[in-house]
Amino acid sequence: MKKENLEGIQQLLATPKRVVITAHRNPDGDAVGSSLGLAQYLISQGHNVHVVLPNEYPDFLKWLPGQELVSFYETETEIAQQYLKVADVIFTLDFNHRSRVGDAMTKELTDTNAVMIMIDHHEQPDAYAKYMYSDTSMSSTCEMAYHFIDKLGDTDQITPEIANCLYTGIMTDTGSFRYRSTTALTHAVVAELIRKGAQNTSIHENIYDTNSLSRLKLQSIALSHLKVFKEYGTAYTYLSQKDLNSCDYRKGDTEGFVNIGLSIQGIRFAAIFIENEQEQIVKISLRSKGDFSVNQVARTYFDGGGHKNAAGGRSTDSLQETLAEFENLLPELENELCV
Ligand code: 5GP
Ligand code: MN
Repeated sequence: MKKENLEGIQQLLATPKRVVITAHRNPDGDAVGSSLGLAQYLISQGHNVHVVLPNEYPDFLKWLPGQELVSFYETETEIAQQYLKVADVIFTLDFNHRSRVGDAMTKELTDTNAVMIMIDHHEQPDAYAKYMYSDTSMSSTCEMAYHFIDKLGDTDQITPEIANCLYTGIMTDTGSFRYRSTTALTHAVVAELIRKGAQNTSIHENIYDTNSLSRLKLQSIALSHLKVFKEYGTAYTYLSQKDLNSCDYRKGDTEGFVNIGLSIQGIRFAAIFIENEQEQIVKISLRSKGDFSVNQVARTYFDGGGHKNAAGGRSTDSLQETLAEFENLLPELENELCV
């Protein structure tokens, strides 16, 4: 973060403010962890803080400390609008474009007079915030939230609750410390969070050992749909709305399924296509290993974006059409896929 940005933020937060913290639609561990961690820190500094998230997050994050601070724009619109309306400061976490909060809420972030502070690690960020702390080399927004608190000279304010929130997002966004974004600095931050009371073993169990039988059944369907294109080092799978319904789908049930393809030897590009009848879209998750940029693929073909090795997007065509389009795309991507 630039020195003048830091000084500006320090000045801004020197007196108690009405703060709203928000993150992207379909919030993941990093979005929720950074929102709740930062919220609890700012409350300790005397601010009035609410977390407004576009919509619900999965049950496996429901144990995180600070849940009571959250309102959901989709289901608690009035109160969420009220918080946004009176906010002096809005932190936008874990996203690079305002549209990532979803159509309805984007307008609130465009019309507001509040001072916007972005903390984010996605590529190609939009310059909508007065203060931008954007660093694409960071493992996670949670790691950045730790550095943010550190830059303000307040790591001694990190409670075990805040440490649990920040640890969670670092762990989920790095695939448990395995992705290339995991650096020595990430581990140093994680070590510090454990020192401050993050319960690393329980966090891992809370997130990863809470499978429902229906999620495992859904996984078996995703496995049975797996299609491998060895010549392109690519694998994809899909789930139709019918598949989801047959397994009593709940939000978060498909988390991580995209990685199944990537675990096959020789596969460096994996995708999952999930039909969403209500939104009339196919939600797409893309993952890669090495230099192949799925961010580029998501941006160019699927109205999305993300990171080099983890990105997402959507298609308004039918599931079958979208799968066919994807298969047709592979020869076009051959040069980048087969290096
Ligand atoms: P996931 O596949 O886990 O939903 O998302 C992987 C990464 O891509 C995340 O960093 C997420 O923020 C980003 N991403 C997912 N969907 C979209 C999308 O529709 N648009 C953009 N710009 N980024 C997305
Ligand atoms: Mn993130």
